[in-house]
Amino acid sequence: MKLCRFNEDRIGVVSEEGVRDATAALDLLPAYRWPFPQGDRLIAALPELTPAILRAAAASQPVPVADVRLLSPVANPTKIAAAPINYQKHIEEARADPNIAHGRDIKTIGDWGLFLKSTCSLVGPSHGVALRFTERRNVQEGELAVVIGRTADRVSRDEALRHVAGYCIGLDMTLRGPELPSWRKSIHSYTVLGPWLTTADEVPDPGDLDFVLSVNGKVRQSSNTRHLVYDVPRLIEFASGIYPLHPGDVILTGTPEGVGPVSAGDVIAVEFARIGRMEVAVADAGPPARP
Ligand code: MN
Repeated sequence: MKLCRFNEDRIGVVSEEGVRDATAALDLLPAYRWPFPQGDRLIAALPELTPAILRAAAASQPVPVADVRLLSPVANPTKIAAAPINYQKHIEEARADPNIAHGRDIKTIGDWGLFLKSTCSLVGPSHGVALRFTERRNVQEGELAVVIGRTADRVSRDEALRHVAGYCIGLDMTLRGPELPSWRKSIHSYTVLGPWLTTADEVPDPGDLDFVLSVNGKVRQSSNTRHLVYDVPRLIEFASGIYPLHPGDVILTGTPEGVGPVSAGDVIAVEFARIGRMEVAVADAGPPARP
């Protein structure tokens, strides 16, 4: 199933015919009192809710995907964990580029661990990227995003994929500079997730997905997840050895070579096998709104 969130927090099932509204199924989510349980409740309930989602979708007329505003398929992750350097050719690219290295020794993912991005950085494709600090270099990183389906706490790589709800396309937008990645990459709108969640049953092997990223129609990144240094099961094992991963938590698996600068007016398009394609507009955030 391809499950999207669109317009005013509606959910929909995506097929070749378009988006079929399944929002009625949300009525089956349990009501909670504070303190709320950790994690995204829709993603957590997805296995039980799927029949109702499909029933509601079957009763709806399809709307063309182009006619809806796609939001992040995950509304409430407790964290966004991201792999810093997880494709060999990107490691080589990073070592060679003083804009990336900033005098640091670029080692391996095993040495560095993962970094966390603010959940407030997360938007969907229709929101687009709003650049800040445009006097500095802002770059695009296209990545496979893993969405956790049930709490994973110190799971082995053999058990890891059982904890996955599905996959999205991720953009890990990056302000270049000497600060820590969790700071530079946490700017609002610097994580884009979309176009929808493709549930794990439709992705039998997340370690063999072709993907292509272009900016203004020109291909910059073209790779396959088989080139990941730490593959998806290893990333889940690695991350869950430090913190429990809750339903809806996102792992950005890392970007291949071909990272480059973006500026206002650019359009980033990413296409992933078994997931789909999303287009994301880049704009200048401009000055903060004043009352
Ligand atoms: Mn990245």
